[in-house]
Amino acid sequence: TKYPDGDIAMDAEKRMKTVYELADQMGLESRELLPYGHYMGKIDAAPVLNRLGKKPDGKYIDVTAITPTPLGEGKSTTTIGLVQGLGRRGKRCSAAIRQPSGGPTMGIKGSAAGGGRSQCIPLSQYSLGFTGDINAVQNAHNLAMVALTARMQHERNYSDEKLLAMSGMDRLNIDPTRVEMGWTMDYCCQALRNIIIGIDGGNGSRDGYMMRSRFDITVSSEVMAILAIAADLADLRARIGRIIVAFDKFGNPVTTSDLEVAGAMTAWLVEAVKPNLIQTLEGQPVLVHAGPFANIAIGQSSIIADRVALKLSDYHVTESGFGADVGYEKFWNLKCHYSGLAPDAAVVVATIRALKCHGGAPVPRPGKKLPDEYTRENVEWVEKGCANLLHHIGVVKKSGVSPVVCINAFVSDTKDEIRKVKELCEAAGARVALSRHWECGGEGALELADAVTDACEEKSRFTPLYSWDMSMRKRIETVAREIYGADGVDYSFEASSRLKQIENDPAFADFGLCMVKTHLSLSDNPSLKGVPKGWRLKVGDVLTYGGAGFIVPVAGSISLMPGTGSNPSYRRIDVDTATGRVKGLF
Ligand code: ADP
Repeated sequence: TKYPDGDIAMDAEKRMKTVYELADQMGLESRELLPYGHYMGKIDAAPVLNRLGKKPDGKYIDVTAITPTPLGEGKSTTTIGLVQGLGRRGKRCSAAIRQPSGGPTMGIKGSAAGGGRSQCIPLSQYSLGFTGDINAVQNAHNLAMVALTARMQHERNYSDEKLLAMSGMDRLNIDPTRVEMGWTMDYCCQALRNIIIGIDGGNGSRDGYMMRSRFDITVSSEVMAILAIAADLADLRARIGRIIVAFDKFGNPVTTSDLEVAGAMTAWLVEAVKPNLIQTLEGQPVLVHAGPFANIAIGQSSIIADRVALKLSDYHVTESGFGADVGYEKFWNLKCHYSGLAPDAAVVVATIRALKCHGGAPVPRPGKKLPDEYTRENVEWVEKGCANLLHHIGVVKKSGVSPVVCINAFVSDTKDEIRKVKELCEAAGARVALSRHWECGGEGALELADAVTDACEEKSRFTPLYSWDMSMRKRIETVAREIYGADGVDYSFEASSRLKQIENDPAFADFGLCMVKTHLSLSDNPSLKGVPKGWRLKVGDVLTYGGAGFIVPVAGSISLMPGTGSNPSYRRIDVDTATGRVKGLF
């Protein structure tokens, strides 16, 4: 096949460790492991953190990248490859990645387990539902919508007295034009972006409340964000209760607590709050927890998973997804703010092919033949494209952390192209490693592993980009200028009035900033590659995630429900009915 990933994984699965062996190797006690079949499990984090609370943490490494291109940079592949490389060097190490979403799996991506000789296994279980965390998040989220819509119908149909007599409920007076939440489904389904629900549900009807609504992809749910940042089950419960579902007719927030649904939502999440455990092709532990998509969500592997892994490993590698402007910025200023953890190093993944794309080579189109520019040497394209890489190195340095550039090697790369990238990165004060983990597994990632262990010995001066005392507008401006390279920010009328309300309301004083912006460009326009200059960030909307504690400005035209194209992966996925094996996931 074109991608031998599936064959490599299937072969390794014949020899993989049982989850009991894996847990043993990590130093987990038997009750701390909750097995799920023979090769997957969950870790009961609370007792581990209690038992090892005083033990010093291992070194903490984040993997980020240049601005993604349709060619793929191999971030997950590098996360796994690095851990395999550290493993070859005899280090106790682990990775944390996010559970893949069914949308990309069935749409364009296939597997998100890495690739080549750097993957995690068992592959198809991991890719398709795993231990059910995303389903649990979806059930919890949609329950809030069930509660909201039922309440709206009952309040419409019954008098105050009858409501009180029937169920002891006071009227919430929900404004149907100010429902903040939509429904969720973990697919890319553009037809569900704008919908009408409760058709024919007029006065007295039992068919619900007729109004506009929408579906978002599950991994972008606020419930998923809460799973990523919650400290423990108690913190999760408290945050779930603060989710703002809608506003009432007087402009006050209506929360999941007002709808008396927060407890039941949390009930869905009792198992989901425990990180999942699988392994790399070479047998190092991989913790999988929370969801992807740092463009439309926080998109970070969970704080709980990182905390547990840092107690059990000497080196723990976590992935924050997309470029440093999007994923790393949120890791730095949101996730680490909540966790109190500080990274010792950050890896910036780049490929020669993607640098060419940023340098001006024709942008490859999915499903079309790769333009020749990508298989022929062209040092000039690479050099131009390095501007994007240098920008991301600059972002990591701004956080006070030592960047290590990983050139994820492709067979088509030439010596001169690689030399040019090394030269420019070293001149910018970054360590650089050429890594062949895709081709050779951990053995190919030794240069990277050594560069990372070296960088971890440097004293990190990790400091937030902005103080949380700053106004939200100031913070947005700081991220736009210093991280995206914008000349400033323009707000729509709605966004501007929403921000005014937020800034005048002390209830939002300790909220964090979680930007929603395309990952395909440093700017808010996905077609601009390299380092766009002379542009202003356009913020069209501002959402409030009361439970996660985020203010979410939505920049450019980006949707929380991606779409499915004309040649989706599901066309190639099937099952070998004799063995039950899934084929074509890659
Ligand atoms: P990302 O996390 O950046 O989206 P992945 O790690 O999921 O990217 O990799 C995307 C695809 O690219 C996978 O199919 C993987 O096998 C392939 N890939 C990654 N690195 C290489 C490489 N060095 N050579 C060839 N293919 C690669």
